Amino acid sequence: MAELTLDSVTKVFNEGGSDEVVAVDDLSMGIEDGEFLVLVGPSGCGKSTTLRMIAGLETVTDGEIRLGERRINDSSPADRDIAMVFQSYALYPHMTVRENMRFGLEESTDMPDDEITEKVESTAAMMGIEELLDRKPGELSGGQQQRVALGRAIVRDPSAFLMDEPLSNLDAKLRATMRTELQRLQADLGVTTVYVTHDQTEAMTMGDRIAVLDDGVLQQIGTPLECYHAPSNRFVAGFIGEPSMNFFPTTRSADTLSAEQFTYPLPAAATDALGDATDITLGVRPEDVGVQPEADASGDHEFECVVDVVEPVGESNNVYLRFAGAPEGETFIATISGMRNVAAGDRVVATIPPSAIHLFDDRTGEALRNRSLADVDGVTLS
Ligand code: ATP
Repeated sequence: MAELTLDSVTKVFNEGGSDEVVAVDDLSMGIEDGEFLVLVGPSGCGKSTTLRMIAGLETVTDGEIRLGERRINDSSPADRDIAMVFQSYALYPHMTVRENMRFGLEESTDMPDDEITEKVESTAAMMGIEELLDRKPGELSGGQQQRVALGRAIVRDPSAFLMDEPLSNLDAKLRATMRTELQRLQADLGVTTVYVTHDQTEAMTMGDRIAVLDDGVLQQIGTPLECYHAPSNRFVAGFIGEPSMNFFPTTRSADTLSAEQFTYPLPAAATDALGDATDITLGVRPEDVGVQPEADASGDHEFECVVDVVEPVGESNNVYLRFAGAPEGETFIATISGMRNVAAGDRVVATIPPSAIHLFDDRTGEALRNRSLADVDGVTLS
């Protein structure tokens, strides 16, 4: 077991050519011994390339990767003591589960046969796949194949696991079950893990910490709640959270933000955080938008709105609201209890509480102020 360090790691494909791509740009991060780090970001942001460089399947253009104290840039994949699990499972189809699990150990160690047998059987028992040991991959369901692929990685007892969207071929219910199981397993084994996904729910629920990438550049690394409540910039704010944070472009004059459909007086503390910035995006999460039935907005932070669409999710309703007078299609979302009765066409009052707003500088996207957590029980950020 070991910590994993990426020090200014860059990957350029087709360097110098007209089709040059900087897939990973000066990425630095430390993954602690035993930590579960989720690398998340949209398609093409460089997640897989990062993982493949750590695994040794891709060369590093610049920078250094270390496992513990050891620089591994130039070690062969087999010498890195790292196991990788892919979305495609990559099991050998002509081998039984037992042979698939034995294979890595036979190839990469000089462990005696009986020890390999014992290790494979104890790992299979831990993964609940003992009864599958003599089947071939083609005789297994997707979930079982994924379990075997994980078992095959675990049996090698590596210093680190790398997982590239390992659950994405499974149906939603099985994915949720496997998510919990993987987390439990990783915590029990205490093996440093880097897990790649484009799914922010997976990132939020599984990671000790999340690293958010966009266009090859690290945007933020922090606990799921830090990324959720204290995003470093607008990209992270929009990427983490479902439904997404609402964003309103505004212009600031002194302590007031003006948008096309509303003006928003800022609390003093927020004004202080803005410096000389005048083009500000106001952000608020859907669950922080209040919805009252009265069609008479009287407070500073209350706005007359019309309900455009209601999306019932069961325990909650996603209510698409339009500021009174705003054109069709210009909506923002409030998430309210599923027990409340709101219907399209209703006139309501939406509240955007000052304690819940995020403010972003349009020039850089940087968060100038994040929501206050002072009066929120149970959420503390380090
Ligand atoms: P996805 O979620 O779609 O798998 P990703 O975040 O894993 O995306 P990467 O596969 O790491 O993204 O790709 C990052 C960038 O590098 C993309 O622009 C991609 O087109 C480019 N890229 C990846 N592999 C190569 C390659 N072998 N040659 C040239 N460009 C590549």
